[in-house]
Amino acid sequence: MINLSRRTFTFGLSAGSAAVGVSPHPTFAQGQPQGQASSTTQGQADHAKSLPPAAQFKIGRFTITALADGYADMPFSYFPGRDAKQVEDMANTMAMAKPGGVRFVFNQYIVDDGERLILIDGGPAGTLGKTGRLPSAMVAVGIRPDSIDAIIITHMHQDHMGGLVAGGRQNFPKAEVYVDRRDVVHWTDPAKRASAPDYLKASFDISAEMMRLYPKLQQTNGNHQITRGVSLVDLTGHTPGHIGVRVEDGGQSLLMVSDMLFPVVHPAATDINFLFEQDRDAAKAMRAKFFPRAAEEKALIAATHMPFPGLGRIMSDAGKMRWMGAEWAYQDL
Ligand SMILES: [Zn+2]
Repeated sequence: MINLSRRTFTFGLSAGSAAVGVSPHPTFAQGQPQGQASSTTQGQADHAKSLPPAAQFKIGRFTITALADGYADMPFSYFPGRDAKQVEDMANTMAMAKPGGVRFVFNQYIVDDGERLILIDGGPAGTLGKTGRLPSAMVAVGIRPDSIDAIIITHMHQDHMGGLVAGGRQNFPKAEVYVDRRDVVHWTDPAKRASAPDYLKASFDISAEMMRLYPKLQQTNGNHQITRGVSLVDLTGHTPGHIGVRVEDGGQSLLMVSDMLFPVVHPAATDINFLFEQDRDAAKAMRAKFFPRAAEEKALIAATHMPFPGLGRIMSDAGKMRWMGAEWAYQDL
């Protein structure tokens, strides 16, 4: 009989986690990231190498590469609308409870239309949890920061912008940067910073750094086409200028919805927020509108914090919403 006890898993994981522990991650601040191969020691050579997560899928003529900047575990008490015990129970039911709470991944997407590379969001870059891994993930797939032509910031929370300004540098020197005007107005307002809770101050500070380092940043207004087949979609709620990105070609489409969904609590409920949402009613209203529509259309969705690569669909079981991970590999079969 196969023993699937926790003990078995613990032993199984220890070799892999040892390898992770000694792999240095290049950072944007260190300049041009170095390849991981150079850091391999003799001792590691006998074990499977730790690979950064990467997934690639096609939407018509677009190739989309999903990478990750890392993860952070959010305490069960960070979800207004339910108390910590209720959120922990939900997480346990799904076998998704971590000792530190609910695990948020920071998925990053690079859209390649054959001519231009568009990065969606930049990750927290070490300002939260175990993050700062986007540079090494990009090295692993052979994409250099200076080959990114454009960056879409879905909103100005620190976990979506940090990588652009980490180390106080313009880490994507050739990229045009797009942000919704409503978020720029909000996150650069000194009065709003002064009255904001402490946990939001970093987002104000990184926003100021963004405006300083990317003076040509383009402020958009809600729905807006960036290039043929790539459009911004107004998803105001999570922040005033929260946007998604629709990639569409040849009858296929993907909607990257950023923070419309958080693991464990969404899409089953719309009356559960995340702590960082200042206008909770607005966030709830957008989810209440979006979840049923996405379910009806069986829309292919990518979400920043859902389990890697964050690709899935909202399904309705007699009105009860659930997340269904979508297959992404072997799309040619
Ligand atoms: Zn986020």
